[in-house]
Amino acid sequence: MKPYSQLTVISYIIGPTLIVVSHVGALLVIFTGLSWGAITWTLLLYVIRMFATTSIYHRLLTHKSYQAPALVLWIGSIVAAAGGQMGPSWWKAHHTKHHQFSDQDHDPHSPYRPFKGIKGFWWSQAGWLFSSEFLPAKLPADVENDVVLRMVDRLHFIPMIALGAISYLMGGVDYLTAFFLSTTLLFHGVATVNSLTHTAGDQPFSTNDYSRNNWLVAVLTLGEGWHNLHHAFQSSARHGITLRVGQVVYLPDPTFWLIKLLEFLNLASKIRVPSETELIARAKDRNHQHLALGTEVEISI
Ligand SMILES: [Zn+2]
Ligand SMILES: [Zn+2]
Repeated sequence: MKPYSQLTVISYIIGPTLIVVSHVGALLVIFTGLSWGAITWTLLLYVIRMFATTSIYHRLLTHKSYQAPALVLWIGSIVAAAGGQMGPSWWKAHHTKHHQFSDQDHDPHSPYRPFKGIKGFWWSQAGWLFSSEFLPAKLPADVENDVVLRMVDRLHFIPMIALGAISYLMGGVDYLTAFFLSTTLLFHGVATVNSLTHTAGDQPFSTNDYSRNNWLVAVLTLGEGWHNLHHAFQSSARHGITLRVGQVVYLPDPTFWLIKLLEFLNLASKIRVPSETELIARAKDRNHQHLALGTEVEISI
């Protein structure tokens, strides 16, 4: 039995329903095309809602990699919900489970469990949302105890529908199509973190899963594609980090830049980033550790 009401189940199911509607709505572009204004609206909605998902739902709400005033968390959560990312309790519940069981049996969206190959890839990209995995077994207590976040969680579909209505009022079918297209692209962009960054890319850091650093996903998700670093250092606000010949190299990470901007504006504090010693100590290739420490490389056969 789920630790939440039947009404909550109905509210949750509205989420993937709206995503399907967005896919169908995005097809309107074939018939209507898009004005330059609508193209700008598509990109703007994509970037703003991606930032809310990455900097607020992921790095703040779930991993607490920095601190921010409640208002930042609340507004960011409403924007992320408007992106079709569901509510904060649902999102954190699944993402916490993903880290707890990464690429093992209870990972909700691993490309290796319960399927492999192309079927596994589809499962991690979208298929799991249409399975029994969709409803979380439990909801995070800290989010549930915040009355505003709990309300955003249960009414997650309202910001999204409101944004669709605003788009229509702004520019008719042209802008409504832009909203559908942007939401569809956003959905698949975020989902590549579940699929592509567990299948393709490099693994500079040692972890117990298949997480990888993938530059394409980093572009699509404004920095979340540096997923191997993220699995190795889950509480790091900065994901764009790798190792090259024993040296720490920083990679483009727009979400981290946004967090730094929030800090400059006094809207973020206590930003957590691992030290270079910690990063090197976690190198997957032990040669990197030795190179960095200036000692001879041990070769074991
Ligand atoms: Zn994470
Ligand atoms: Zn992952």
